[in-house]
Amino acid sequence: MAMSHFRRLGELWLGSDPAQRLRLRQNLLAVALMGISVAMLHYAVHIDGRPAGPWLWPWTVMSLGGLALVYAAIRSGWSLRFADPSLTREQIAFAIAAAALAYAQAGALRGACFPALMLTLMFGMFQLRTRNAHAMGVYALLVFGLVMGVMAWVDPMHYPPAVELGHFMMLACVLPAGAVLTTRLGHIRRRLSDQRKELERTLAQLQAIATRDELTGLPNRRQMQALMDQELLRSLRHHHDFCIAIVDLDHFKRVNDEHGHAAGDTVLRAFAQGGQTALRGTDVLARWGGEEFLVLLPETAMPPAVAGMERLRQQTAALRIAIDGGTQVAITVSIGLTGHRRGDTLAQTLERADQLLYKAKAEGRNRTCID
Ligand code: GH3
Ligand code: MG
Ligand code: MG
Repeated sequence: MAMSHFRRLGELWLGSDPAQRLRLRQNLLAVALMGISVAMLHYAVHIDGRPAGPWLWPWTVMSLGGLALVYAAIRSGWSLRFADPSLTREQIAFAIAAAALAYAQAGALRGACFPALMLTLMFGMFQLRTRNAHAMGVYALLVFGLVMGVMAWVDPMHYPPAVELGHFMMLACVLPAGAVLTTRLGHIRRRLSDQRKELERTLAQLQAIATRDELTGLPNRRQMQALMDQELLRSLRHHHDFCIAIVDLDHFKRVNDEHGHAAGDTVLRAFAQGGQTALRGTDVLARWGGEEFLVLLPETAMPPAVAGMERLRQQTAALRIAIDGGTQVAITVSIGLTGHRRGDTLAQTLERADQLLYKAKAEGRNRTCID
């Protein structure tokens, strides 16, 4: 029960969209770090022995209020209009300015602002593009340099110019070193991203190899088997019919014998291309093996299936396939078409289609036999 209360509180605070939650969680971290900085500054002013300056409370309200505004900008969805809805750059620039202003008030404990600055810049290193992270380092050096100069000028008692110069020199040395690390991190990130893209490409290629027939580009036997299994499940669930046809090229051996194996390949490719255009978009033509093809007609009853197969048969007979040497080859197909019957297995339906194909061959080829 306590768990669900927490969850509801989290939903209220961060919303339910994962991307927005991530952005708000980052803001929450910034708020937490700012809270620690606020406590630190109040402690620093307390132990410094001087009366607190007039800026302590305005600074406190502004520092936490600024990040609260960022929270509101993200939570309301207002920041979605920007290229970076997380407002990371804005939050980091704001935190650096707040750290510099804390430095101006912290007196003896002002060295505590440096780790806060470094932590903020490290966020930038991981979250920003390399160039923006570099710019953030330069900006930090300028803002801190300005504050050090001003403080050495107006309050040399607590901010001796020689000490401020030392602090500035330290920053001037450390920040370029950070820039080198930033660049290196950028390289690593780019390489990772390149590798991921390469992996995605390879995966897509592998998928194509696993599901497509290399010669014709049609779905291969394994893919067709998966598609038929799926269609069988769908038909059981939604009580619709589907049909399966086996299509075999007539006297294909002759094409090979008379024109060569390469010409045979060209004919197979041409049939595959033409066959797909003869069928409806939802029908699937696949290479079942050799010069044998399978057609799956999902959610289709016999009459339209017969019309579709006749269209395929006639269109194939009308094809004139140009092979090397300028010769044109004509082909015909024999088709065994049957509807899947409820209660049958796919193997039984395929067997029936095969028998019908055999019958079409026996009756003289270039025809469709149905049952
Ligand atoms: P039918 O009308 O009875 O089907 O006669 P057919 O000559 O088409 O049948 P058969 O099964 O005797 O011959 C099929 C031929 O298809 C034999 C084989 O060499 C050829 N073949 C199978 N796969 C390929 C291929 O990928 N490329 C080429 N060029 N030929 C192939
Ligand atoms: Mg054949
Ligand atoms: Mg055959």
